[in-house]
Amino acid sequence: MHNVEDELFTSYGTYLKQKYGAPAFRVGLDAGFSCPNRLSGRNSPGCCYCDAFGARAMYQRTKGADSDQVDEDLKADIQEQTDKAVRFLKKRYGAEYFLLYFQAFSSTYGTLQHLRNVYDYALSLQNYRELIISTRPDCIDEQKADLLLEYKERGYDVWVELGLQSAHDKTLERINRGHSVSDFEDAYNLLRKRGIKIAVHLIFGLPGEGSSEIVETCKYVAKLKPEGLKIHNLHIPYNSPLYKDFSAGKVSVPTVEEHLDYVITAIEHMPESTIIMRLTCDSQEDERAAPKNFLKKTEFYNLVRNEMKKRNSFQGRLFL
Ligand code: SF4
Repeated sequence: MHNVEDELFTSYGTYLKQKYGAPAFRVGLDAGFSCPNRLSGRNSPGCCYCDAFGARAMYQRTKGADSDQVDEDLKADIQEQTDKAVRFLKKRYGAEYFLLYFQAFSSTYGTLQHLRNVYDYALSLQNYRELIISTRPDCIDEQKADLLLEYKERGYDVWVELGLQSAHDKTLERINRGHSVSDFEDAYNLLRKRGIKIAVHLIFGLPGEGSSEIVETCKYVAKLKPEGLKIHNLHIPYNSPLYKDFSAGKVSVPTVEEHLDYVITAIEHMPESTIIMRLTCDSQEDERAAPKNFLKKTEFYNLVRNEMKKRNSFQGRLFL
């Protein structure tokens, strides 16, 4: 059981330290994947909080969805991003271990051959220990789950970061997620069956949701016992469909105090085995209408720890 002498919750930093015993860092890549939820004919323009083309539009190549090829430009991009990230991580943090992270958009959206080509090429550029892939539930099927299993069998620790955001279909419809809770569960089970590690993404403060919806979502996720949980506070980019409602005063984002309560509640509901991988969202300040003046990542992390100490709170306290 956690107590005040411990970390109170299992953070990603602690997990990596224990696992590798030396500085281990993610190399986050944008490999030009797109997102089916943003393409015309498919619930365009995507989730209501998604900006028009994302901060990484320069790398976006929709051809990734239906082409097997990894063209020379894409290879050069991947190589450049890798070299830059590895140099920086070594110099700034003395990184010794590297984890390959396909971060942007839906990184299992493409033909099987294209995915294999991109993953293989990126993996060949560095001595990676892990393959981490961020994606949507509707971009995972039997074949893609089998492909990921192959990397596990080749010795990589394979993680999928799977977006759920809310366990309420009503909310998923309202935010135009383009998938249901049961789609999420199907994808989760395909990965789970193959022993692939899963980190679930949630957003707190979505339109129409308050504390009781968030608690229900946390209970739903806790029962699945994912290896990881990533929590985001709702951000509203100027360039997103949600901005219209925000500027008309129809939606708001959680205050620091509200998010603090949501996060502590979430941590208390999670089993101790779930790594709490993030607590807040990152976005470009000048592209964000709200929140303004939210605490920085480390400040919020420290606030959560201090408040949990005060409340005698710990991860798993409310896990059933
Ligand atoms: S799944 Fe991600 S990239 Fe796609 S529309 Fe939603 S937020 Fe945007």
